[in-house]
Amino acid sequence: MHILDLPKRDHSNGWSRILPERMVHMPLQKDARADWVVVGAGYAGLAAARRLAENAPNDRIIVLEALEAGENASGRNSGFGIDLPHVVGSAQDDLSVAHAHLRLSRTALKYLEEIVEKHGIACDWSRAGKYHAAVTPRGEAGMLAPFIDMLKMLDEPHRILDRSATAKALGTSYYHASVYTPGDVLMNPAALTRGLADTLPENVTLHEHSPVIEFTRGGGMELRTPQAIVRAPRMILAVNGHASKFGFWQRHLLPFSAHASLTRPLTDKEHEALGGVEPWGVTPVNAFVSTTMRYTNDRRILIRYLLRYCPSQLAPEGELDEVRAAHETVLRGRFPMLPEVTIEHTWTGYVCLSRNNAPGFGKLADNVWSAVCCNAVGVTKATIAGLLAADLACGVDNPLIADLAALGRPQSLPPRPFLDVGVRARNAWDLWRGRDEY
Ligand SMILES: Cc1cc2nc3c(=O)[nH]c(=O)nc-3n(C[C@H](O)[C@H](O)[C@H](O)COP(=O)(O)OP(=O)(O)OC[C@H]3O[C@@H](n4cnc5c(N)ncnc54)[C@H](O)[C@@H]3O)c2cc1C
Repeated sequence: MHILDLPKRDHSNGWSRILPERMVHMPLQKDARADWVVVGAGYAGLAAARRLAENAPNDRIIVLEALEAGENASGRNSGFGIDLPHVVGSAQDDLSVAHAHLRLSRTALKYLEEIVEKHGIACDWSRAGKYHAAVTPRGEAGMLAPFIDMLKMLDEPHRILDRSATAKALGTSYYHASVYTPGDVLMNPAALTRGLADTLPENVTLHEHSPVIEFTRGGGMELRTPQAIVRAPRMILAVNGHASKFGFWQRHLLPFSAHASLTRPLTDKEHEALGGVEPWGVTPVNAFVSTTMRYTNDRRILIRYLLRYCPSQLAPEGELDEVRAAHETVLRGRFPMLPEVTIEHTWTGYVCLSRNNAPGFGKLADNVWSAVCCNAVGVTKATIAGLLAADLACGVDNPLIADLAALGRPQSLPPRPFLDVGVRARNAWDLWRGRDEY
């Protein structure tokens, strides 16, 4: 099977542009054999490879990555390690699912935190928590209040903030109300992904700039890259929205583009204009319509706004200019007291959703497992899916496998072009319906 439409390289990712240069791992240059091959070096692939190495210290594991660690979605996101599910009903079933989410996410955060500490990964890892915020009274009643009810039912610590308390915490009076929860982690995601890739155990070999361009599965896996071939009896697929190109999860995955910007660092005077606030992260009650934002440790403002259905996973020419203009409007609307602050970096990344919010996890065929489609909560969900795919493949009895499997499998989708028309119509409706929360 030929793999077409590979991920494209670009240098727009602000999180990695503000880091020092990194030494990239050598591409695969000669044919190699391994006990395992992992495809993809995002959170899912890196967790899978590390866990395989922990489970089978004498096995040889090869990771093939089309781009560079930190340049994929894992390095381009908003840098929230999210521990809480956002929308859960009140039924007992929903609560048990919420508990499963919590166990999975918190195990992932603990696993990542131990690696960060052990290897001293400088990624600004901080247990800063986050604010979940509504822009309007309607958003508060319709989306924030049910979230708070869920926190109460789960007995999760939280602090409810009205408009003025939210403004004091964030330095902007744009939001009507918010709830603060302490469990989330904020970090520079490119630094984290690089750090995870550069501290893999000794029996793992990572090859960057090594896209799989042809894949065959017979007696074992054979993966051809531009210069050489890897042969391995077993494979973990961790390529997120590209999985269908390998013949798996076809008509089950919905790739979307997501866009983010970083401003230049604020000056002391500008920081004072915000009231000298501590670094913070805000997730919106309506993630499709509104904006995720951060005020970083180095006093930059992050804006994550606009999610678009993008089956090609290639943003159209000129889209970044349009996105940057939209982000500029978001910035000015929320921070009129910072008229001189400019956007320094704007970039696009690709997330993978499923219709029923279920992960693409599990055994796909003899000797093939997958950890894809973490529904845009990849810091925790892709990490845990990669780790558990490795446990499942190695026959490790981990009770969290049942938790992840209980979230279901991605529902099948109608064929294109009907799918495209349906998804775009649904998006347009969601945007219109939620327009007040912009
Ligand atoms: C702007 C933005 C903001 C986001 N904010 C957050 C957030 O704050 N918190 C959060 O949890 N999540 C967030 N997400 C989502 C999160 O980044 C993803 O869910 C997560 O990175 C997915 O990890 P992954 O390992 O599954 O996939 P990826 O990081 O996409 O990794 C898959 C890898 O597979 C490689 N690959 C694909 N095809 C091939 C091939 N043929 N050969 C070899 N390699 C291949 C790709 O190059 C890629 O590196 C955000 C995403 C974006 C874009």
